Amino acid sequence: MEDNITIKFNKLYDTIRNCTKCKLYLSRKNAVIGYGNIKAKIMFIGEAPGRNEDIQGKPFVGSAGKLLDYLLNKINLKREDVYITNVVKCRPPNNRTPLKEEIDACIPYLKEEIEMIRPEIIVTLGRTSGAALSEIFGQRWEGIEKERGTIKEFEYNNMKVKMISTYHPAAALYRPEIKSKLEEDFEKISKISLQRKSKNLLDFI
Ligand code: SF4
Repeated sequence: MEDNITIKFNKLYDTIRNCTKCKLYLSRKNAVIGYGNIKAKIMFIGEAPGRNEDIQGKPFVGSAGKLLDYLLNKINLKREDVYITNVVKCRPPNNRTPLKEEIDACIPYLKEEIEMIRPEIIVTLGRTSGAALSEIFGQRWEGIEKERGTIKEFEYNNMKVKMISTYHPAAALYRPEIKSKLEEDFEKISKISLQRKSKNLLDFI
């Protein structure tokens, strides 16, 4: 039997699949819902689906997805251990950056995902995600170069969440120097997630 949270997620996913709140629905093949563990402690948030994601209806399935898997693997995580989603759920034509009105129309779905998952760590992938999450948390976004690798703590809807911003893996496909910065940032994610685990263990003892 499905538990409450699974029922709520299925309802949200149905709404997203049928959504016509912004013009992106006109050109999408599939709206792309989140993927992974709905009880995860770590949530990764990208910008928007690309061509392969639009075809398959799953996030991060193209080359950027392969790099994300590699980065997760390096810190002993699999997709099934985390939850992965995007700020905007439908592909912008030619992979352009989502417009403000598209982000504004779609962001309530992301807020619902955050509220249902209640992650302890949110990793923003790329500037659109970093800026959108900063807005949700009522913070000023200083740009990816300044914000990348920083860890901030927020109180949001009765939850404490750490946000770490890094590059979008797609950026590393064209700029190899970004890959090593992503690896550094994923090491930080690993460290804060281990700190969290040992703290929880101490609470238990
Ligand atoms: S991008 Fe978001 S708001 Fe726009 S149609 Fe798709 S699901 Fe709806």
